[in-house]
Amino acid sequence: MILVLEKDITREQKAYIRSVLFEAGCIVREMSQEGQSVIGAVGKGNMDIEEINALAGVEKVVPISTSFKLVSRSMHPEDTHVQVGDVTVGGERITVIAGPCAVESREQALSIAREVRTYGAVLFRGGAFKPRSSPYSFQGLEEEGLKILAEVREETGMGVVTEITSPAHADMMMKYVDVVQIGARNMQNFELLKCVGRMGKPVVLKRGLSSTIEEWLMSAEYILSEGNDNVILCERGIRTFEPYTRNTLDLSAIPVLKNLTHLPVVIDPSHATGIREKVSPMARAAIAAGADALMIEVHNDPDNALSDGPQSLYPKQFGQLMRDIYVIAPVVDRQLDYSYLDKARAVNHINTVNGKGKEKTAFLGDFGTFSHIACSRYFGSKISAVPKPSFRSIFEAVKTGDAYFGIVPLENSLNGSIHENYDLLLEYDLKIVGEVTLRIKHNLIGQPGAKIEDIQRIKAPPPAFDQCRQFLQGHESWELVPVNATAAAIKMINEDSAAAEAAIGSKEAAELYKMEVIEEGIETDPRNYTRFVVISANPIKRGNRKKSSLIFSTGNQPGALFEALKIFADNTINLVKLESRPIHGKPWEYMFYVDLEADAEAESFQPILSALKEKTDYLKLLGSY
Ligand code: PEP
Ligand code: MN
Repeated sequence: MILVLEKDITREQKAYIRSVLFEAGCIVREMSQEGQSVIGAVGKGNMDIEEINALAGVEKVVPISTSFKLVSRSMHPEDTHVQVGDVTVGGERITVIAGPCAVESREQALSIAREVRTYGAVLFRGGAFKPRSSPYSFQGLEEEGLKILAEVREETGMGVVTEITSPAHADMMMKYVDVVQIGARNMQNFELLKCVGRMGKPVVLKRGLSSTIEEWLMSAEYILSEGNDNVILCERGIRTFEPYTRNTLDLSAIPVLKNLTHLPVVIDPSHATGIREKVSPMARAAIAAGADALMIEVHNDPDNALSDGPQSLYPKQFGQLMRDIYVIAPVVDRQLDYSYLDKARAVNHINTVNGKGKEKTAFLGDFGTFSHIACSRYFGSKISAVPKPSFRSIFEAVKTGDAYFGIVPLENSLNGSIHENYDLLLEYDLKIVGEVTLRIKHNLIGQPGAKIEDIQRIKAPPPAFDQCRQFLQGHESWELVPVNATAAAIKMINEDSAAAEAAIGSKEAAELYKMEVIEEGIETDPRNYTRFVVISANPIKRGNRKKSSLIFSTGNQPGALFEALKIFADNTINLVKLESRPIHGKPWEYMFYVDLEADAEAESFQPILSALKEKTDYLKLLGSY
């Protein structure tokens, strides 16, 4: 049941309510919903709702109508984020777990781990105890396999996931791995569920081969009721009458689960389809449908794999899939981060070297702006975002060490480049260390309960008006009031608290300032993206850099630009952007801004840079990321 508490409840009243619930044998969770204190209580006995309702300080008691309680959204309205070392499952960044079905040898596991990490996987999977349909099939390397997994974590920094098949293995699992997996065949092995509940380590709970969503959630309830909330639900296909795939992947489970439970959802298209060619299409669909994570089987020699070879991707195919996910994720307000682990390491490093509080990122405007959203999408919640009034003040803050990172927009898919930042990149000696692409979704935001008919005045920055032109043309009587930033506009209408005032901005800003979205997605072209770059005075160490940015100028003679670009062509380097900007003080002379798909800081790139130096008057590497 959910107990909604009175606003002016005293500490003593609350303590008494908790003691009554504890004595009745309840599991008690305290939370806050829309500013009001709420207690969730789940117990075995038949508690008298009337009696609880009559306790001083209780406003009302709402029974939880579903059979699962602790996993239900009503017990915990916010999404649960499961933390595995530096990796968060759930939230804005997509988590990708990859690796072979089974650990077969040290060389096999390490080789696959190195490859999937390069392509952006953040957790490594591999079975050491394999529950096989046939007793004559490979059963796993057992403890030896777990030791190899621990070595993979040591070498690559990826947390490791493996299946537990018996409570007798709990101590071994505690020693060697980061996440335990309950396999589909064990979803209703209640002793095993209770065991992983007590272990407290994050759990991937696979859906049973022919289990309903309710049965699956009841299994998760077993784990939570033992005090372990770190459960990730894994849809891996269910048995149907369809023989063309190994199982049928139930992607509709994603929105169903998102409604019923607060637990994160991982999709395993490998066991679902059983066929290599079907894995990537279903993985892409899973991200589009709102999955928090993917679990993909990858093998370096699938033809000779000891289990599940036909469904395992070749590492290169996995890399291709990751590129697709990278592109799809921003469409559904998510992010795939190739340098997730390196960045987490860098942030932890800053914390240890400089002490807490130095891990700041400077961004433009107020909390709730798209720059702020880009910042949390890139860094998660590990870094504090510091608002700055101008782009130049962001560069200054990073230069002086006042902030370790800065985040600035470089280009918008509709409006083009933000030239001021290109000029600042040229002027300041800072490095680009990362990038993040954000889909800019504009919403009409007003007072809670305000109706579209009440609106007379809209506040927003002029580019937002431009991007919502078509929608605004349908409301010609509205007065358009230009302001500096979307979040500032929302703050203003919050302070004015007039139903006639509305603003344009992000859903996040509306929530932050307790305003309401009146109309969602009012931008004319939904393909509205802004690419932000992260700047720092110190490059993020190690890592996996796919892209580089540089600036150069050439002499003013025929073929000068061609000569420079030919170097990229000769080395089969793909350019993804080429733009010219006037050079200050030299009318009609230009700098060229280039983005290319290569790690220009790598040793192997140095001859290319030297060749480029010979063909240019000026060359500056802005960074590889
Ligand atoms: C596995 O992940 O390798 C596995 C055996 O999965 P499932 O339990 O879903 O069949
Ligand atoms: Mn498998």
